[in-house]
Amino acid sequence: MSRFWKNVLWAITTLLFIAFLFSLFATPAKAPTTLSLSQLVDKINAGQVSQIGVNGNAVSITMKDGSQAVAEKEPESGLSETLKNMNVSSTALAAVNFEVQNQSGWSYWMNLLLPTLLPLIALLVLFWYMFRSARAGANQAFNFGRSNLRLSTFKDRVTFKDVAGLKEAKEELIEVVDFLKNPKKFLDLGARIPRGILLMGPPGTGKTLVARAVAGESNVPFFYISASEFVEMFVGVGASRTRDAFMTAKRAAPSILFIDEIDAVGRQRGAGMGGGNDEREQTLNQILVEMDGFDRDTRVIVLAATNRPDILDPALMRPGRFDRRVVLDLPDLADREAILKIHAQGKVLDPGIDFRKVAARTPGFSGADLANLMNEAALIAAREDKKAITQDNLFNAADKVLLGPERKSRVISPKEKEMTAYHEAGHALVAVALKDADPVQKVSIISRGFAGGYTMKLPAEDRHLKTRAQFLADLAMMMGGYASEKLIFGDVSTGASNDLKQASGLARQLVMKYGMSDLGPVTFGKSEDMVFLGREIGMDRDYSEKVAAEIDAQVRKLLMRAYETAEKALRGHGTALKKIASTLMEKETLEQEDFYAILKPFKIKPI
Ligand code: ADP
Ligand code: MG
Ligand code: ZN
Repeated sequence: MSRFWKNVLWAITTLLFIAFLFSLFATPAKAPTTLSLSQLVDKINAGQVSQIGVNGNAVSITMKDGSQAVAEKEPESGLSETLKNMNVSSTALAAVNFEVQNQSGWSYWMNLLLPTLLPLIALLVLFWYMFRSARAGANQAFNFGRSNLRLSTFKDRVTFKDVAGLKEAKEELIEVVDFLKNPKKFLDLGARIPRGILLMGPPGTGKTLVARAVAGESNVPFFYISASEFVEMFVGVGASRTRDAFMTAKRAAPSILFIDEIDAVGRQRGAGMGGGNDEREQTLNQILVEMDGFDRDTRVIVLAATNRPDILDPALMRPGRFDRRVVLDLPDLADREAILKIHAQGKVLDPGIDFRKVAARTPGFSGADLANLMNEAALIAAREDKKAITQDNLFNAADKVLLGPERKSRVISPKEKEMTAYHEAGHALVAVALKDADPVQKVSIISRGFAGGYTMKLPAEDRHLKTRAQFLADLAMMMGGYASEKLIFGDVSTGASNDLKQASGLARQLVMKYGMSDLGPVTFGKSEDMVFLGREIGMDRDYSEKVAAEIDAQVRKLLMRAYETAEKALRGHGTALKKIASTLMEKETLEQEDFYAILKPFKIKPI
């Protein structure tokens, strides 16, 4: 609406301006006197007239003294005839310089039309503007069959410099860009230009970012579309949008077409529950058709991103379609440091900051989490009225991203506080007492998010493999809180419920997925990721009732053993437990160094 009023205002201003111009030109400084024809005759006879110009019916007269006058002749007859009929003396007339200014050309018509035309034009312009803005609105409702293809309209240009880590992904994509730039080199060798590249990795690992970097690096047109945009409320739209997107990309070849979040349409066909996914199937089919329709040397490369490669339709992955797969992993220690540094750019930092330390306590963080962490740190520093972001701000931000904001305001009774302190002390102490457990990084009884308190452990380095002994130590550590409460108070609280849930889940995985129980090296059930596909429901049990009971028994056995291990560890170090708990009640949070300093006098030997 505001745009409409702006247009109106604009048009009015233009009109006023034009009117002003006219008033300048159209009103001469001195209007010439108007003579009747008989007066003109008198003047001619008196010899005062030097020149007469005829222009249509208008007669302009120039006197000998230089003054001007106008008259109007009769339309039908010529001026000289009229004058003769009115008894003008022919000698006097001969002295007058006649000039027929036949201005049928430009200026005549302009003089005639401009005054009427200009306002009209102004009005037309005004209408055109209004119409255009109205049409823009209407178009939005009617262009649902079009693919909203964005031609690399990313606001800020991203290059590979802005992407930390992801070395393999970058290499693969650089090669692709090269394909597009020098196809001859590859075609001469008989190589087929790759058609589809699937970027896959957990959310926030930089799939979209890397694709944007490709757009920034290559000098070919880069089309972006999110597959979730394909699927809208109108049936049949997805397929036509797909067609449209591929057509646009092909027309602009060499080019790159990026389909983000392709899992929105690329799910295995026939996997939906209760129908309703026809639209998705049609869209997916269309993508397959389009990709098959590429010629050998069609210079369009289709990039797609997904964080659920496991649910993609196998047809998408066939050679000739998305046959190249690039895996983007969660960043490792060095990459996390690099990502932090990238996102630290433009922020004011305390000179003493060690990003390595922050990276070390954020295993499992994705690139997006780390970007978020840096931003949170800046916000925290601002809240504390700091001039620069400190190391502490970064640590605090890491906890916040992981567990939610601190809830210092939550009022807890002294009794509750004591229980929480013993609970957390229990977790921490078990971790110290078991040699396969990860070191403790931080213990706190300040509630964060939903957690009443938390004990954070720290894998010394990023691990890709984990052993059974380590899992068992993890389980025992999870049981530490529960065991501690029971040991000290003879009672357990609801504070342990989340621990128990986690432990049960892990124990079940050990039995069913990793073959780490007495049932031996067997897996049971399909991957739990598949369950939401629907068709797996009711079918994921590939074992008998009897085995199900055995699995349950094994899970219970693991949990009971973990509990016993935890209890034994705590019982053996009762004074240490009391010491940690009392320090926690006093200080509320213990960092790694403080924590181990407290324990030093107890000389705990891990078992
Ligand atoms: P997704 O894999 O879910 O598409 P994005 O590409 O959208 O993830 O990443 C989200 C944000 O996380 C990016 O905009 C960027 O700020 C940050 N990020 C992720 N990975 C990296 C990385 N490797 N280097 C730098 N920033 C990263
Ligand atoms: Mg993304
Ligand atoms: Zn706990």
